[in-house]
This record gives sequence, C-alpha cells and structure tokens, in this order.
Amino acid sequence: MGGAEVEVLVAGGGVVGCAVALELARRGVSVLLAEAEDGFGLQASGTNSGVLHTGFDSVPGELETHLILRAARPREEALAALGVPVKRCGALMTPRDDAERARVAALARGAAANGVAHELRDDGSLLIPGECVTDPVRFTLALAAAAGAAGAELRVGAPVGDLERAGDGLAAQVGGARVRARVVVNCAGLGADALARTAGDEGFAIHPRKGEFLVFEPPGGAAPERILLPVPSPGTKGVLVFPTLDGKLVTGPTAHDQQDKRDWRVRPEAPAEIRAKVAAMVPELEGAEPIAAYAGLRPAGTGCNYVIGPSPLCPPLIHVAAIRSTGLTAALGIAADVAGHVAAAGVEVGEPAPLRPGPRPPGLGLDGPWWTRTARYEAARAS
Ligand SMILES: Cc1cc2nc3c(=O)[nH]c(=O)nc-3n(C[C@H](O)[C@H](O)[C@H](O)COP(=O)(O)OP(=O)(O)OC[C@H]3O[C@@H](n4cnc5c(N)ncnc54)[C@H](O)[C@@H]3O)c2cc1C
Repeated sequence: MGGAEVEVLVAGGGVVGCAVALELARRGVSVLLAEAEDGFGLQASGTNSGVLHTGFDSVPGELETHLILRAARPREEALAALGVPVKRCGALMTPRDDAERARVAALARGAAANGVAHELRDDGSLLIPGECVTDPVRFTLALAAAAGAAGAELRVGAPVGDLERAGDGLAAQVGGARVRARVVVNCAGLGADALARTAGDEGFAIHPRKGEFLVFEPPGGAAPERILLPVPSPGTKGVLVFPTLDGKLVTGPTAHDQQDKRDWRVRPEAPAEIRAKVAAMVPELEGAEPIAAYAGLRPAGTGCNYVIGPSPLCPPLIHVAAIRSTGLTAALGIAADVAGHVAAAGVEVGEPAPLRPGPRPPGLGLDGPWWTRTARYEAARAS
C-alpha cells in the first residue's frame, strides 16, 4: 500500500484534537495531527465564549462532568507552562424571581456534589470564584505548538478521509497522501459523523448549533468585573455577559439549531434576541452599538453528547465527537481519557514528558483579537 506510517493519526485540530495530540506525543506515541482547514482552531474552538468552566452547573455523574473536573489540574498546569493568558474574574448568577431562586439553589447543591467552590448569598445569587475567561485561539495554538515540541507532526490543509481497514489498523487519505495508523482518533468536530461513515459507522450524527455574539466597548469604559450568568434553562447555559482579555464586553451566545455546516453568518435577528436577553443584566447597553459580531457552530450530537470511545463497528477508530458546549474547558481531561482508549487498543503509552512550549504551529496564526480571526478568515476565503 505504501505511504507514511504512524501509531496514531488525530483527525481534526480544534482544541480537542490538539489536546489529544499533545497528550499522546508527551507519552511517547508517534502522532500525526491533521487539520482540514488552513490553521488550527478555526471552527468551534476559535469562535466560542472562551470561558473555562468549573463544572459547577454540570450534571453530577455524567461523563461530560467527569471530564470537566478531570481537566482542571492539567489545564492549570498547561496554562502556566505554555503562557496562555487567563482572566480570573469569577462568575455571578443572579435570580430574578422565586422560581429562578429555587433553580439557583439547586445549582448550588450540584456544585457541592461536584466539589466546586461556590457561595450562595443571602440575596439568592450564586458566586463561582473559579470561573474564568481565556483566549481560546491562543490556548488551542499553544496546545498544537506544544504537541509539535513533544514530537507530533502537525499538518494543516490536510483533510482526513476514506478510512479503510489495513491489518490491525487503518489506512486513510490525509490531504493528498495515504497514511497508515494503528489508531485513528476522530476529533473532527462538525465533520466527525462524515469521517465515521467512511469507516462504515453510522452510529451518530452531528448538527451545528449556532451561537452568536455581540462585542461592545464596555459602557463607562470598564468591562464587567465578573462573568454575568443568566439562570440556565434545560439544554442551554443561556446568554451571558463576559469581559475579554483585551478589555471588551461580549454578550452571547444564542442557541440556534441548523443543518448547514458551512453557514457561519450572524443571523439578522440575532442582535435583537441577544439584546432582549441581556437588557436586565447590563441596562447600560441599551442603545449602545456593537463593534463586532461573530458566530460559532457547536458540534452538537443529534440525541447524543460526548461520544468518546472506540467505534463499535471499527475499533481502531476512536471517536471523540459531539463535544458540544464545554470542550475548551474539558479538552485536557478528554485527552487523558483518550490516552486510556489508545493504550487499550494496543499502542504503548508511556508516562508523560514535561510540558514545553513549541514554535508557532503551521497555518493561520493569531493576528489581532481572537474574536475577529474567523470573520477575517471567512471573508478572505470568500473573496
Ligand atoms: C457559541 C459557542 C460557545 C461556546 N462556549 C464555550 C465556553 O465558553 N467554554 C467551553 O469550554 N466551551 C465552549 N464551547 C464549546 C467548545 O467550543 C467546543 O466544545 C470545542 O471547541 C469543541 O472542540 P473540537 O476540537 O471537538 O471541535 P472543533 O473546534 O470544531 O474542531 C474540529 C476540527 O476538525 C476539523 N475537521 C473536520 N473534518 C475534518 C477531517 N475530515 N479531517 C481533518 N480535520 C477535520 C475542523 O476543521 C475543525 O478544525 C462553545 C462553543 C460555541 C460554538
């Protein structure tokens, strides 16, 4: 068959694929990280809220919650070792009526069950001091760079497809080249279901859940001191208000299910939807003009969430799919979990070498505020 050979091919260079490549490369595994776009972190991982969650509101006992909590320590180590900036501002959730007050009290009980520091105040509001904001693009690029420094090969403009069984492992098309791997890890975000289908696995489907944001100069010149959270409803954390590292104020995201995986536009109705939801939280924004708007597409599983583990139909293919809404936070916990699956598939996985920052990874870097990057990329691609 010819072509290159690696132990693990990681398909998809969002924050999850970059974290998986880093974890495996640090553990002595030969890794190729292949990203379809012209740079790492151009899809969900570069178009989100940038909030690093504590897991205070995650359902106790679920896999997503377990991986959020498992990520906390390695993420702190990585942020420090790789020099990724963080705004340690905490978050505040304030109920508006008795029904919301009861929901907030229930969340406080969940936070206690998850072991997350919190303070339920006399006025019914909940303070979560550990919630913080980062630059999600710098985080993703730093993980990719560190994976490169640990020995992973990094490729962009290299879509993975056409998986087929080859001996104990798989052969795949990577860009224009044929690659054989003992294991393929499917971190392809919105493309994870299409990649699985090339191996005959139709076990899950992914659809985009669009989240739109408005960016403002902070009213009065000072961004909010904390992340302001609405009381969530089932299925969505709701529209929040948060400060960015570069001193802006962002409101969003919306939650709009769609079918088109390439439609990253902000819908014309989105600004009014967002404004209506944040009017009570930041009344000063009334009449203020946003300086920018952006949209992200969450890779949402249709009827499933956090699909992690070997494909039942093709075990050398390990899925890390449907990481819809907390992947930035959980990436390093997910990566540790995936290392266990890779070892179980017969690849030797050693102890991790120390984390080292790496040189700038190939492809589009970060030039200007992260929240403008995807919009500029889409505009350049369209022209
Ligand atoms: C609006 C919004 C707000 C969010 N807010 C937060 C938040 O505050 N905190 C938080 O923790 N999480 C948040 N999230 C969730 C988080 O962004 C995602 O969970 C995370 O980015 C998923 O990472 P991923 O690597 O799985 O997917 P992606 O970032 O989508 O990466 C998948 C990559 O795979 C590539 N790809 C696709 N097909 C192929 C192929 N065949 N071959 C090679 N490459 C391929 C894509 O180009 C893409 O780069 C938010 C998401 C959105 C959209």
